[in-house]
Amino acid sequence: MAKRICIAGAGLGGLAAALRLVKKGYDVTILEKNPNAGGRLNQIKKDGFTFDTGPSFFSMTYEFDEFARDCGITLPFKFIELDPLYTVNFLQNGKTYRIYKDISRFAAQFKDVETGFEHKMKRYLEKSRQLFEDTYHVVIKTNHGSLFDYLMALSRVNPKHLPIVFSNFWQHVSRYFSSDDARQIISLVAFFLGRTPFDTHAVYSLLSHTEFVHNGYYNVEGGMYRIVETLVEELKKGKVRFAFNTEITGYHENAGLLSDLTDHQGKNWEADAFVINADAALFRGMIFNRPAFSTEKLDRMEWTMGSLTIYLGIKGKIPQAEHHNYYLGKNYKDYAKKILINPGKLEKPYYYVNVLSKLNPGCAPPGCESIFIVCPVPHLGYKKNWDDVDLVADSIIADFSARINRNISKDIISKTVYTPVDWQNKFNLFRGSGFGLSPKMMQTGGFRPRNHDERYRNVFYAGASTIPGTGLPMVIISSKFAVERVEKYFAA
Ligand SMILES: Cc1cc2nc3c(=O)[nH]c(=O)nc-3n(C[C@H](O)[C@H](O)[C@H](O)COP(=O)(O)OP(=O)(O)OC[C@H]3O[C@@H](n4cnc5c(N)ncnc54)[C@H](O)[C@@H]3O)c2cc1C
Repeated sequence: MAKRICIAGAGLGGLAAALRLVKKGYDVTILEKNPNAGGRLNQIKKDGFTFDTGPSFFSMTYEFDEFARDCGITLPFKFIELDPLYTVNFLQNGKTYRIYKDISRFAAQFKDVETGFEHKMKRYLEKSRQLFEDTYHVVIKTNHGSLFDYLMALSRVNPKHLPIVFSNFWQHVSRYFSSDDARQIISLVAFFLGRTPFDTHAVYSLLSHTEFVHNGYYNVEGGMYRIVETLVEELKKGKVRFAFNTEITGYHENAGLLSDLTDHQGKNWEADAFVINADAALFRGMIFNRPAFSTEKLDRMEWTMGSLTIYLGIKGKIPQAEHHNYYLGKNYKDYAKKILINPGKLEKPYYYVNVLSKLNPGCAPPGCESIFIVCPVPHLGYKKNWDDVDLVADSIIADFSARINRNISKDIISKTVYTPVDWQNKFNLFRGSGFGLSPKMMQTGGFRPRNHDERYRNVFYAGASTIPGTGLPMVIISSKFAVERVEKYFAA
């Protein structure tokens, strides 16, 4: 008889692990607290508009290709390459830069801003390439069994990168570029990790290699949620069972193994092994009651920023914006310093606007635009009260209107706002932190919650909260690692 696996959580990590498992002949059941699959990679359909709720682009498409190969399927969704990758608009001079993979075309915009930009960019990208190539397979794509394994892997990284260990992203970028515009644009990628360039390690500058060279940014034909829909279709073909509206709140053990997960209605879900896609730290604390992951301990860890997300259906088109657009204010450094911890002033936030209907016109009725705004804000550990949500959201909409020189507030047909409270409650994200545990050195690799349980040999973890880390491609890799562990467990 096929071994039974229960997966707690139908986020991308849970779905990808499920497909890998079912293709290997396991009998899989997915338990999800929400009424649909996808987790943060989700969708809102409202007033004739469709919105992707969280991820709006990704890099490293080759990880999805590898996943499809591993599962013996043709990838069921199509990538759309972003060109430009994104735009960055500055408040002080109104200038908008278009970020192209073609470095000469990108550099042309810095003619009067930074001398020798193209040469500097190439030098910077060469260092990013070296960092990527020297760490990707040894550190990121290795399923470290223990902290010792991880430290051994680090010791194999070329020592020439050692000096970078003592710098943050901003300091590293500042060694290559002198203008503020260039420094801000190149270091912006740190915000994609839910951090700022001032508290993100310089090692993450390897992401510049993935965005500019290997291999750019992508969306998905039909919208990001097609990833989830098509994976669910594949899983149903494999007879995977889904139990939605099923929140895991307890468990039972037997002879040193986990015997079942218990849902909020008291139903026991028995299996031979379990994959937890819910947050690996929070689940250990809240469900398994592990002292090392108590609320006090979790609060002492570093969590990424919260996300304030605004979903707008607009009458009329917005030719002034591309698919992905960043709107920066006047004081990058000061703003970055404050957003994590200072909830006081959110009237002039930095934010990101994704015009979903540019690449996927089906997301909006004819002549309309479907817009998704993300603003990094303090998580609930720093700002608990969101009574001012309308004030903050309206200030962002007003600022965006000013930047595109068109008042969109009178053309809003549909409006939905998620604060960190919503993100916390919908997906069990600790303190509403959008990207989970910060990718600081002491919370990555062997220091991150492990993908195999400390107590039960038949419990494994897949998703952004375990190794290798956050973001869609990393989650796909995590599903591979979790399934390797399941296989090893049954083979032992
Ligand atoms: C606003 C925002 C924008 C983002 N943008 C991008 C982007 O552009 N590109 C990118 O690559 N990444 C982006 N990310 C990050 C990306 O969304 C995550 O890294 C990824 O989706 C995490 O997938 P996961 O499967 O690990 O977790 P989740 O998507 O969080 O899935 C976990 C699932 O477990 C369920 N669950 C939790 N607890 C329980 C329980 N007790 N019982 C049952 N079910 C439970 C949850 O409901 C959820 O469905 C963004 C995140 C946010 C918040």
